[in-house]
Amino acid sequence: MTTHSPSDQSLAGPVEFTYDWYERFLAELLDAGYTPAGYDDSLASGGMIVRHDIDFSPRKALRMGEIEADLGVEATYFVLLTCPLYNVFYKPVRTVLQELQSMGHTVGVHFSTHQYWNGEAAANVVTERVLAEREALSSAVGDVSEAVSFHRPDEWLFRRSFEGFISTYEERFFTDIAYLGDSNQRWRDQHPLADDRPEKLQILTHPGLWGAEDADFETRLAGELDRELDRTRRFMHEQLVDKKYNVDEFQYETNE
Ligand SMILES: [Zn+2]
Repeated sequence: MTTHSPSDQSLAGPVEFTYDWYERFLAELLDAGYTPAGYDDSLASGGMIVRHDIDFSPRKALRMGEIEADLGVEATYFVLLTCPLYNVFYKPVRTVLQELQSMGHTVGVHFSTHQYWNGEAAANVVTERVLAEREALSSAVGDVSEAVSFHRPDEWLFRRSFEGFISTYEERFFTDIAYLGDSNQRWRDQHPLADDRPEKLQILTHPGLWGAEDADFETRLAGELDRELDRTRRFMHEQLVDKKYNVDEFQYETNE
């Protein structure tokens, strides 16, 4: 693999949180020789794990999944079962997740310890709750990843292994693996490829932070919230007032 700085690449300059930029980013990593890998593979040199935590906006996950599928990249999409903004059993969301699976991507649990405990919990108790959520997700969408990602993980979860599931924050996904995460759009201050190309990569993006046009973190959150609240209001009205029960029209369009 060649090692070169991004300064001579198309990705020089500030990160834009657009689908186009994401596509170029992945294409460049593939050109540089990285090979997409999953959490159950033993990660060889040049391996790159592509991960998404869906904190909100499953519809944007679908758009990112299409980009990846076109590039031949298989990614893992972690979904919250404890999010007030979307529900994996709700048909449009279930459909999105199944479409991601049909593109070759894997779906797994994005687990929020904060929904259960304030602070650290015993390992066996964590495993029990995680496996319960994984079983629930599996009953909604079938095959799910052995791997689980923690939502806004506290220190006690880092570099730690649990029985019964793979944690994306296990020691082996940190040691010798560069971890590139876009949380809070921090790539605007710290370009993900600012350093020389690492030997192995774990790339985390949150689909809700991306879009057709660039927008800052607060704008993105506000926009998604408005959209989902509008959708929820319309859903409530149709189900409870108009008594129109067809949810198919709530299907997510990837060009939304
Ligand atoms: Zn999260």
